[in-house]
Amino acid sequence: MRVAAEIISEQQRRRPLAVVVSAMSKVTDLLLETLRKAEVGDRADVELNLEMLLARHVQACDELLRETSASSHAAGMRDVELLVSEFRRIANGVLMLGERPPRSVDEAIAIGERLSSALLAHYLNATGVPAEAVNGSDVIVTDAVFGNASPQMEATRERCAERLTPLMHSGTVPVVTGFNGATADGRPTTLGRGGSDFSASILAAVLDAEELWIWTDVDGIMTADPRLVSDVAVLDEVTYAEAAELAYNGAKVLHPRTLAPLVEKHIPVWSKNSFAPHKPGTKIVSHFDEPKGARAVTSMSNVALVSMEPANSVLSGTRLMARALDALALGNVEILVFTSSSYRQSFCFLVRKHDLALALEALESNLSIELAHGYLKPIEVDENVGLLAVVGEGMRGMPGLAGRVFTAISRENVNIIAIAQGSSELTIGIIVRLDSLDRAVRAVHAECELGKLAAASVQ
Ligand code: ASP
Ligand code: MG
Repeated sequence: MRVAAEIISEQQRRRPLAVVVSAMSKVTDLLLETLRKAEVGDRADVELNLEMLLARHVQACDELLRETSASSHAAGMRDVELLVSEFRRIANGVLMLGERPPRSVDEAIAIGERLSSALLAHYLNATGVPAEAVNGSDVIVTDAVFGNASPQMEATRERCAERLTPLMHSGTVPVVTGFNGATADGRPTTLGRGGSDFSASILAAVLDAEELWIWTDVDGIMTADPRLVSDVAVLDEVTYAEAAELAYNGAKVLHPRTLAPLVEKHIPVWSKNSFAPHKPGTKIVSHFDEPKGARAVTSMSNVALVSMEPANSVLSGTRLMARALDALALGNVEILVFTSSSYRQSFCFLVRKHDLALALEALESNLSIELAHGYLKPIEVDENVGLLAVVGEGMRGMPGLAGRVFTAISRENVNIIAIAQGSSELTIGIIVRLDSLDRAVRAVHAECELGKLAAASVQ
């Protein structure tokens, strides 16, 4: 928070600024776990978690505000206690009901962000930067999909013009909670895990920002996961489309929905490391003079491959696909990869493991008759797989690239289970056995010389 305040105070002298904050590390997990404990009636654990929540924020408040002034320290403590007791009230409600109503969950888990914004705003004020904590639910208007809401941009623009613009013009920095919003009639929502990035991009779009800076704990968007590959490089520039593909296919640096609101207005995004603010980071833009070839490789291991096949020609493959996709859409299940190629009309798709139960339930209920009458073979699930994705706009129209990628993987003696490349040629998705995923990632990174290329472009 101190580092954040330093960056804010420096920038605030140059131009109007709005700040979006996330909860402190692991706080959202703690809040969610507390509500789960409350649902099953585990009062003792709920108490323990509440104490932990209070202790962590009291400690943060002490360390930040004790040296500033007695009054701001007292004000910080008051806010921490108020917000923790607000969470306690909802947790008690869940204990009593034995149920977690989605809107109450959303209201409760945004308290992590509200604690952060209160503390940071007090600290900014105490160090001479006028600031005001703003609840995201007052400015971001969303639909009513609790837990994974989408913004309504026009209504959000109006709210922001009323609530944020005057603050910014008067030299006060709004410190807005990320992650949360509310429906037009005021029911609290959240934007999905990791959604603070998305909050920031929504606000950047409606405020017509010149730039959006996203501060994380890594140097920017990398050519691969540094835990898997030793010679990774930070990409100096990527396009919105590349960044979105990378996020969608497992790179943790950005929430996948972050870039959508910015595309139309071409607002550039910087992904930077708050622990090394002087490093350049990665700039995400709509278009630049892209080098040829791949730019990065990502992987995902928490996935499951679902395969389906008609048992005979009575049921057409196309109809089966339609029914399956319809079921998945109804269940709100995201499909990571979808492929179909055979005369037998079989097809398979990849989903996140945490969506698997939901996906199967939806498929089995939508296709119960076909399954019961034997028109459809039993649905097969393989959880022992991983997804590797090679991404780059420069791969478009480049003969031989897919061949090189597959050869590199086969040289490692890794078998490819399924492949998908859309006609945009932006991403090649490759499904392999889980235990060979990391090897395949290293092989592709080396074959495409990603570490080298990126290093060259940084200089
Ligand atoms: N605190 C929320 C989460 O953990 C939002 C975020 O971190 O961006 O999902
Ligand atoms: Mg976070």
